[in-house]
Amino acid sequence: MTKAIDHLAALTGFRDRDLLDVTLAHALMDLLHPSSVAIHKLVGDSQSTQRWFLRARLASGQVTAASDPPWIDFDGLPAKQAFPLRVEALESEQVLRSQTPRGEALTIFPMLAEGADAGVIEVLSGGPMSPASQRTVSSILRIYRNFHGLLDYSERDTLTGLLNRKTFDEAFLKTTHTAAHPLAQGAAAGDDDRRHDAPLTQYWLGVVDIDHFKSVNDRFGHLIGDEVLLLVARILRSTFRFQDRLYRFGGEEFVVLLRCAGESDAHQAFERMRANMEAYQFPQVGQVTASVGYTAVLPGDTPSGAFERADQAVYYAKQHGRNQVCGHAELVRRGVLKDATKIGDVELF
Ligand code: GH3
Ligand code: MG
Ligand code: MG
Repeated sequence: MTKAIDHLAALTGFRDRDLLDVTLAHALMDLLHPSSVAIHKLVGDSQSTQRWFLRARLASGQVTAASDPPWIDFDGLPAKQAFPLRVEALESEQVLRSQTPRGEALTIFPMLAEGADAGVIEVLSGGPMSPASQRTVSSILRIYRNFHGLLDYSERDTLTGLLNRKTFDEAFLKTTHTAAHPLAQGAAAGDDDRRHDAPLTQYWLGVVDIDHFKSVNDRFGHLIGDEVLLLVARILRSTFRFQDRLYRFGGEEFVVLLRCAGESDAHQAFERMRANMEAYQFPQVGQVTASVGYTAVLPGDTPSGAFERADQAVYYAKQHGRNQVCGHAELVRRGVLKDATKIGDVELF
């Protein structure tokens, strides 16, 4: 009992969702001593194309758990339908029991959550799990779910459901830490062969600012304006990948923290977003466009430093016709923007 409470204290001590899943796996291993515990989440935007993503796995005798590797090929993940028992557990909201070909008992617990965080816990054990053990897991899962709800409440924007500004700095610094140590990424890839030949991850920060949004409010009213914001958030979600972080920074300004291999890939991703916006028919309002500025996240960057560069690029896009994507580095190469880091050096003297 005391042990269970200790684990709950540990579980609710983290605000980092990656650590939360690993901690949950540890708690279940320690309390129930099964052969293994794995947490699989459904990722992807639309129901039909969702895929399974392994958030954490622990096996007895093993001390590490997988969580949030720096590079994942979405198309390489198993399709939702490839695991019908997991789907059944989720849809029926029931704990399901099965047996593996090796004769081990498999118990699948649904992890219910709004939207993208739905998943399952798979527990493998020598014999069937006792009803008492199952109750323990179900209770811990209820606490986990409530805690997730609280996190969402404090970290997400109520209108769009995107992350709010509060969590940006922390996520950004985690990003620069990984970006600054490319060799550490190779080590983190562990023994999964697929990741060895994955391109080196770089991070990009994009600022998306809706064009002439004030006039949407002026012409159609605030409620319709809010609906446009909601739909823009949806376009962002469907354009970017599940690992990219999407923020509403306030008003009609959005920030994207993107992982991809290089400048042209980043440009393409932002350009795809801009084109999706341009093509979308907003109810009543019709066409609404956005201007995007982006920059590479550099080793040692501060959140405000990188944001400032992306913001300069947005400003340039706004000054030069709007409805376009501008990269800070490209503007510096073309000589229309000064390299902010160099300006900083000069200002010291
Ligand atoms: P630009 O193309 O230069 O970005 O022009 P803009 O009109 O989009 O930019 P500006 O910064 O002048 O105006 C932003 C407007 O966004 C002002 C405000 O009315 C509106 N706005 C900010 N937050 C909200 C919100 O939560 N809901 C609604 N409906 N409107 C908002
Ligand atoms: Mg605007
Ligand atoms: Mg603005």
